[in-house]
Amino acid sequence: MQQERAVNPYDRFPMVIVEHLIKRFGSFNALSDVNLTVARGEKIVLCGPSGSGKSTLIRCINHIEKHDYGRIVVDGVELTDRIRDINSVRCEVGMVFQSFNLFPHLSVVENCMLAPLKVRGLPQSEALDRAMALLRKVRIHDQAKKYPAQLSGGQQQRVAIARALCMQPKIMLFDEPTSALDPEMVKEVLETMVELANDGMTMVCVTHEMGFAREVADRVVFMDCGSIVEEGDPSTFFRAPNTERARVFLNQIV
Ligand code: ADP
Ligand code: MG
Repeated sequence: MQQERAVNPYDRFPMVIVEHLIKRFGSFNALSDVNLTVARGEKIVLCGPSGSGKSTLIRCINHIEKHDYGRIVVDGVELTDRIRDINSVRCEVGMVFQSFNLFPHLSVVENCMLAPLKVRGLPQSEALDRAMALLRKVRIHDQAKKYPAQLSGGQQQRVAIARALCMQPKIMLFDEPTSALDPEMVKEVLETMVELANDGMTMVCVTHEMGFAREVADRVVFMDCGSIVEEGDPSTFFRAPNTERARVFLNQIV
């Protein structure tokens, strides 16, 4: 018999709504009037020149940066200064950085267990089972007892992905997850991300890996100077971008 599914009243809303977002550093506008909606299950690739605001945008979605104006709604909850339990929103948003950011003094499996134990309050045995299952999923369970420094960059990044997934996030944000990797390790991380996409995860990925974008993205969003300049499906965007700025950018990266 099928179990009755708890009804989430927000299921019919988009996973993320960004409206008229402005983020300033001093007098500098890092984001100027950014509007973006991410549907449930949607995969977005965010690209654009260095300094265009890609990291700032996803850091605002995760509330690592506070925005100055506009609205951000994640899974039906608006991110404001007044929000009492920002952790409850952040729990739903998994984040993977360029520089892995694993805790060096914890083993691989301990890295994966920490937040479920401390933030979600999972019992030890459950946190361990979940960590091992997700390490198996990213094919690194045989390294569970090692420390981050004993792993290659590609392996560390797969651990970082497994660690984020241990919180059972509703959306995963990736900020140039393969940029710090040697070329031979890029593939294993991208394969993990493709599998995650195929599992139906909602994803926003800052990446210049155009093969990945073509394979996975429902939409490519191109930013320049703190604004979304153009967006479209990958085949159209890569073949025939609308704007001169996107054309110049694409010529530089291929
Ligand atoms: P991208 O990820 O597209 O390379 P960022 O979002 O990192 O761009 O940065 C956008 C702009 O905001 C850049 O000009 C950058 O120098 C500036 N910026 C980012 N973070 C800070 C900060 N903490 N303080 C001051 N300026 C910042
Ligand atoms: Mg960046």
